[in-house]
This record gives sequence, structure tokens and C-alpha cells, in this order.
Amino acid sequence: MSWTLMIHGGCGAMRPATLAPEAEELARTGLAAALDAGEAVLASGGAPLDAVEAAARVLEDDPAFNAGRGSVLAANGRVELDAAIMDGKDRRAGAVAGLTTTRAPISAARAAMERSPHVLLTYAEADAFAREAELEQVDNAWFVTPERKAQLETVMATGGKFDADIKYGTVGAVAVDQDGHVAAATSTGGLTAKRWGRIGDSPLIGAGTYADDRSCAVSATGLGEAFIRAVAGHQLAMRMMLSGESLQQALDAVLADVRELGGNGGLIAVAPSGEAAWGFTTPGMYRARTGSDGAREVAVYSER
Ligand code: ASP
Repeated sequence: MSWTLMIHGGCGAMRPATLAPEAEELARTGLAAALDAGEAVLASGGAPLDAVEAAARVLEDDPAFNAGRGSVLAANGRVELDAAIMDGKDRRAGAVAGLTTTRAPISAARAAMERSPHVLLTYAEADAFAREAELEQVDNAWFVTPERKAQLETVMATGGKFDADIKYGTVGAVAVDQDGHVAAATSTGGLTAKRWGRIGDSPLIGAGTYADDRSCAVSATGLGEAFIRAVAGHQLAMRMMLSGESLQQALDAVLADVRELGGNGGLIAVAPSGEAAWGFTTPGMYRARTGSDGAREVAVYSER
């Protein structure tokens, strides 16, 4: 039974000299816990879709990452959550944007996929839909941590501009099983000091999230506006189908294209062949992988 699981916890300007050792340790521990959750599904013959949801849920609940609890704040001081999930087997997809009370946005995305005829649900009606699907609801303040409040204050003090030092902490997971079925999930609070009502790339199918058994499954992190304009996820899938590039070559080409548009970020991807690749144009990206071959890796900086 062969399978691969890859996850990310966002990319950013973190370097060994700038990231506090405690923060690094928390992130590494969180990534390992998410790997465990996804691995438990795949090792027992479960579906890639279940594995990516399980991994993303662990990261959503971990305040070290910008998804679910610990999400970054919009300029109005509130948390607005975006998420998407996609099954490569039949290209079914579900997404939610602008959630403010649903604890597990990735499961709301899955509910949208499985229990509605729609792909993308937004704002209060999406929370209401999640409530009807019996997903836990919490007060918006539950998502807010003191670190994120301080981060917003810092960004607002400098005019609310997104700069190169920003840490994108979006979470994502991609998985492939022995039959070549792939799935992808992405969940995020978006960008610090974003205009409320702004929707990023993560919940947009083909931009920050995409899965197709004919090509690959991919999850993005970084400046969402550039990933949307590059149609990054779908571009990677099309390169795999049409260009003859390897997964790594195609992924690097997409990141170069995003960069052309003024955006930095990272991608993780797996292909039905079992091939896996990641890459980023920021100094670091929280990321981890595991597989039936026993290769387990948790990394933050470019080399480790
Ligand atoms: N891509 C996300 C967004 O633009 C941000 C991130 O990756 O942290 O909403």
C-alpha cells in the first residue's frame, strides 16, 4: 500500500536568526501532529480526501498557524476564514469564504461539497450552512490570539501595507494513495490587515487549491492576489498534463510566474504517480511530508 502526504503551514520571512526557537518548536510540533492525523488515515487504507481534511483540521485548531484559531486579523480586527477541499477522483470540490463563527472551516468546505449542489458558499450564509451541517460554532473572539492582535497593530502602524516580512501562515495538505487518487485542502485567515470582505486564493478552486487525478493535487500559500491572477493551482495541473515537465519543474515554473506578478509564496503538490514536490520563493515555509516509504521530514527553512 503506497501513499504520500505533504502539508504546509504557510511561508514567510522566517530565518534561523529571526524566528524564536520556541516559535519554531511549536510550529514543528504542530506539523508533526498534523502529519500523524493524516498518516493514520492513509496507513489504514483511508481516502486521500479524509487524510487532507484530518491534517488540515489539526492545523486549524493550532494557534501557531494562520487558519482557524490563531488566524490573522482583518483591518477591522475580526477574523474571516477561507477554506477549500477537492477530490481528484471526480473533481468534486467545496469551498467557503468569509466564515466568522465556524470552528473547522475545512469541514465546512467538505460539507459544501457533499451536502450542497454548490462549490463556494460565503459569509453569514456559509456559517449558517455549517451550523445546519452540525459543525461547531464559536464566537469570533475565540479565533483571536494576543499575538495576532499585536501583529495587526504593527501592520496598521505602518499604514496597513503588506510587506515582504509578512509571514503567511495558511495551512494546506495534499495526498495521493496507491491507486493514484489525489486530494487537496487549504484553510486560512488570509492576510493581516486585509480589507474585510476580501477573499484570497485559498478557497478559489484552481487558484490556491486544486486536485485532478489526471495531473496533480496542489495547495498554495503566499500573496493570494498573485496566485489568483496566475491561476496557480490549475496552471500547475495543466503544465503536468500538457508540457511534459516533471512535477518539480512545473511547480517551480508556476512560482516563477507568480513572482512575475509581484507575489511570493509556496506550493506543495503530489501527482498520481506518487511524485511529490514543494517549493517557495520566501526565505522559509513550514512544511512536512510522510509516506509509506517511511520518509518523514519536517522543515522550516530552505535546507531544513
Ligand atoms: N494565500 C493566503 C491568502 O492570500 C495567505 C497565506 O498563504 O497565508 O489569503
